[in-house]
Amino acid sequence: MQARIPIANITRQTQSLRSEIDHAIAKVIDSSAFIGTAQNKFVTEFEQNFANYLNIKHCISCANGTDALEIALSALNIGKGDEVIVPAVSWISTSECVNSVGATPIFVDIEPTFFTIDPDQITTAIGPKTKAILVVHLYGQLTDMQKINQIAQEHNLKVIEDCAQAHGASYHGKKAGTLSDIATFSFFPSKNLACLGDSGCIVSKDDKLAEKCRLISNHGQKTKGTVEILGRNSRMDGIQASILNMKLNYLDQWNMLRNEKALLYRKLLNNTSLTLPLNRPNTDHAYHLFTPLCIEREDLYNHLKNNNIEANVHYRTPLPFLAPYIEQNNNRTFDVATKTCKSIISLPLCPFTYNSEIETISKLIINHL
Ligand SMILES: *Cc1c(COP(=O)(O)O)cnc(C)c1O
Repeated sequence: MQARIPIANITRQTQSLRSEIDHAIAKVIDSSAFIGTAQNKFVTEFEQNFANYLNIKHCISCANGTDALEIALSALNIGKGDEVIVPAVSWISTSECVNSVGATPIFVDIEPTFFTIDPDQITTAIGPKTKAILVVHLYGQLTDMQKINQIAQEHNLKVIEDCAQAHGASYHGKKAGTLSDIATFSFFPSKNLACLGDSGCIVSKDDKLAEKCRLISNHGQKTKGTVEILGRNSRMDGIQASILNMKLNYLDQWNMLRNEKALLYRKLLNNTSLTLPLNRPNTDHAYHLFTPLCIEREDLYNHLKNNNIEANVHYRTPLPFLAPYIEQNNNRTFDVATKTCKSIISLPLCPFTYNSEIETISKLIINHL
């Protein structure tokens, strides 16, 4: 029996960094700097390091990537009666956050080749209530930001980037997260830059937005006890920050490995009936996931599963057709999203996937198709 190949080998990553992780945690324990207050040196250091890495002025840490999105929308004063344009394919957080602040997500279909929101279909979705366009750099692929920002400018809309799958990806040399008004990241354990639990952050070049995010994430307090607005508790803890500070040093190297492994898949699977994912020109893809299209997707998925290979599907249902949204959208079609969700499959890929494992998987696929 083939040894199990997970979609992302988190165990292998953790093992390879074990002594550095232990050291990062021990430092926090020894200084009792557990909670992410303004005085927490591990959290503050990570915020500075990540802002420097992206080349952006502000980074505000928080409890997870979903909170980050909610806080960003709140900071933009988006709420009841407002509409936010979102892509029809993403993780639920992308549209859920819009509902969480009391606004309505308006879904727009995706581009067939790159899987990100289709800018050419945005204009017809814009109405008098539209306040923002929330884009997702899905699977590590950059959205067409030039077109997005142009549309936003013409219609006086804000742009938010959900970068939960795109740490370190770039567009014309600029990092994902620096191409909009405000952007969010998740550091969930399977992301390209990941802690050992939950955490996230918001980044922005705008002083006022950054200050508002900080207020919201810390009970509306600028200094302890002085509540200026109603906020919430959404903090990154010291242990996660310390781990992220250490792991940030590896991010570029890991993304390079992800690209090399994607290239290996592309080479090995080139002459099959699979439609392989492409890199948008003038971008650096972060290959959070490697997502070919396969007509007989369920069949391939089961074949890999029977051979102990953990493929996955991101995602089986377009967001507008999930139960909470179906009523709002059941008379609309999202042709590309529907077709993509029926045929997309995520193959195992992470910096710690061995090339020999990719060869094994590719052979299994070739012999099966
Ligand atoms: C993971 C993810 C999130 C949410 O992150 P959490 O930290 O799990 O809340 C949001 N958007 C996208 C596209 C994601 O992949």
